[in-house]
Parts: sequence; C-alpha cells; structure tokens
Amino acid sequence: MKALSVLGSTGSIGTQTLELAEEFPDRFKVVALTAGNNLDLLVQQICRHAPEAVAVSDPERVAALRERLDALDPAKRPARLPELLGGNEGLCAAAAWSSADLVVTGIVGCAGLLPTLAAIKAGKDLALANKETLIAAGPVVLPELEKSGSRLLPADSEHSAIFQCLQGTPYAETARLSTGVPTPGLRRIQLTASGGAFRDWAPEDLIKATVADATSHPNWSMGRKITVDSASLMNKGLEVIEAHYLFGLDYDQIEIVIHPQSIIHSMVELADSSVLAQLGWPDMKLPILYCLSWPERLETPWRRLDLTEVGSLTFRKPDPARYPCMALAYAAGRAGGTMPAVMNAANEQAVALFLDEQIHFLDIPKLIDGVCDRHRVDLMGAPSLDDVLAVDAWARQAVREAAALVAA
Ligand code: NDP
Repeated sequence: MKALSVLGSTGSIGTQTLELAEEFPDRFKVVALTAGNNLDLLVQQICRHAPEAVAVSDPERVAALRERLDALDPAKRPARLPELLGGNEGLCAAAAWSSADLVVTGIVGCAGLLPTLAAIKAGKDLALANKETLIAAGPVVLPELEKSGSRLLPADSEHSAIFQCLQGTPYAETARLSTGVPTPGLRRIQLTASGGAFRDWAPEDLIKATVADATSHPNWSMGRKITVDSASLMNKGLEVIEAHYLFGLDYDQIEIVIHPQSIIHSMVELADSSVLAQLGWPDMKLPILYCLSWPERLETPWRRLDLTEVGSLTFRKPDPARYPCMALAYAAGRAGGTMPAVMNAANEQAVALFLDEQIHFLDIPKLIDGVCDRHRVDLMGAPSLDDVLAVDAWARQAVREAAALVAA
C-alpha cells in the first residue's frame, strides 16, 4: 500500500490521481491533499478519501473549510476529520507529510516550487507533473534531490515515455532519474507535440484567436494554463528544459516533432542508433499510474491501443514562425541560470492576462521576449532559491507593466 500526498488535488492531474487511488484501493491510499480555491470539490474529496491532512493555499480559507466540514451530516463525513492547514507553510507541511510515500505535484505554476522542495527535503519520492518548478529552479532542485535521495518520477506524458523507454534498455540500472547527469547511451530525445489548438489554423487567422479557441485542445483534456501553453507550443518549450534537467542532455540533443495523433508520446535514440518509442491513447492516467506503481506495472482494464483504428501516424517539423515560444524556451534554457525562471514567470503572467482577456494570444511571446531581453544583463549563473523567487516576482511585474502599455 503506497500512501500518497496529492498537491493540487482539485485540478486535472489531482482528480485523475484520486480516480486512480479509487481504482486501485488495495494499492494506494491518500494521506494528504492540497487545493487552491475549489472548496466544494475539496470537501467531496475529503469525504471520499479521509486524508490525514488537508491544506489550502489561502490561509484565510481554512476557517471556511472547517465550517463546511463541520456542517456535513456526520454519517457522510469521515470519522476522523483531517488536520487543516493553510498558506505556503500548510502546503509545505502537506507535501512533507510524514506518512506519505509519494507526492504527486499537481499544483500549476511556480506556486508549486516551495511545496515540491519541502517534499524533496523530507526525502519523499515525487510524481512530477508541476514542470514549472523544475524549469524555474532546476539549479536549486537538483542538488536538493542529490542530498535527500528523493526520486523524481516524471508524470508528464512525454517524459514518462522517455523514462519508460529507458527502463527497457541495458541502461536501466544506471539511468539516473533526476540528477541532471547525462543518461549513459542516450543520444537524442524527440519530444512529440500535438501542435495544440491552432495547429491547423492559417498563421494570418491567429489574430482572431479567442480564449475559447486557445483552451480547446484537440487531443488532451487538461487545465486551462497548460492548454494555452500547448496552443503556443510553450508547453513543449518548457518540456525541453524539463528533459534537459531530468535526463542531462544538451539542448541540441532534444528535438520537438509535431505528431497530431498524440499516440507516440516521445522517442529516445540510443548510442547504437536504435530508436525506442512509447505508445498509447492520449490519456494522462497512464503516465500518472506508472509513477504511482513504478517499478511495477499494474493490470488495467483500460481501452487497448489499436493502431488499425488510428490508421496513420504522421510527423512534421514545427514551424518556428508559427510557434515563436519554442525558440524563446530553447534560448532561455541555453542561457541557463535565472533565465528559465524569468521566462517561465513571464509566460505564467502573460497567459493569466490572456485568460483574463487583457491581452491577445499573439502578445504572449512578445511580452516574454521583452522581459527575457531585459533580464540578460542581470542573469545569475548559479541562483539560490531566493534569487529564483526574486526574479520570478520581477518578471511577473515587468509583464504586467509591459501589458498595461500594450493595452493603453
Ligand atoms: P489545473 O489548473 O487543472 O489544476 C491546478 C491545481 O493547482 C488545482 O488544484 C488548483 O487549485 C491548484 N492551485 C492553483 N493555484 C495554486 C496556488 N497558488 N497554490 C496552491 N495550489 C494552487 O492544472 P493541471 O492539473 O492541468 O496542471 C497541473 C500541473 O501539471 C501543471 O504544472 C501542468 O503543467 C502539469 N501537467 C498537467 C497535465 C494535464 O494533463 N493536466 C499534463 C502534464 C503536466 P483550485 O482549482 O482549487 O484553485
């Protein structure tokens, strides 16, 4: 029985993780949950899973959560109510919860950084969905992993695919999960990308793109921020940096290929030129389950892949003119130090402004580019956690100011 702490339990990754816990009740139990604002769903989750601890990001909402739990029919609520926690301190306590074996990081954005670090410092293994943490703070996170011995199991479908391919090779014993050391024998990674919501739009039509358009993903059902990142291909850019930190390859060994069917979840090329791929329907439950069960594989009754039903698998190179965020991400990754943190924060802020209909979709890369450009003179090569948090705050403010000028 593996005990789970689920960070961001009310989101897309979080709810799917809880569904898996229900599907395999003899294998997984939930001991801690964290959420942002969705108290309605959180209360339902507490009733179903009876965790030992629950944290909400806003400390002022702890009292509201307590009231809701107290108001429940005693027959419907868990016999023992969880310890209720709030704010960053509470999120970190839930992440480091003593009885948890594995922490699923489903918080969106850099808000996941401190809880993720708390889990690592407590020596927990992680199912890493919250890629922004590694991207913003790779130079801080990797040494902490070394110190604590925590393992970073990739939940992102592409990185899970790479990880799964590496399990099947003679390098499995030496493939390091998380140290940023080059994985022996791994020559190249090809990250597949669906191409997102606008993959079939003519470039001149993007000027008409609305929030509803950008948040309708053709293949995957995910949270709003990552769906917009998929439309701009920033998600794939972030994944390139994530792959760099996870598997230790240089940026010119990590490529992006558009694969509209999302059946091949990524590919690895090994030293002898052999290419391995992992295939499946586009469903996040599979990579999440692999994190939960690793190194075992559990029997599932899920729909089996039938390639004759798919018909054909196609691939094309991404067009840099259509997806300017891709080049921004490679450039930030190559610059290293604090630049990925700045780019990530600028993207988070720009996407939030877009979702709030304050800027246009096409403004997102322009705002990120401007802020990264300004940061070049202040770039720190080996940042501390405080440096990362400071540049993150600076980049968000810089984007808000630049966006206000665009709007004026
Ligand atoms: P969602 O937006 O669906 O969920 C985000 C979760 O984080 C919610 O539980 C939300 O709480 C919580 N949250 C939001 N802001 C804060 C905050 N400031 N402090 C604490 N908690 C907060 O996101 P996804 O599940 O789609 O994505 C989560 C992460 O996983 C992202 O980093 C994403 O890139 C990554 N990922 C997601 C995939 C997917 O299929 N969804 C695939 C691969 C990676 P509430 O809703 O209660 O406010």
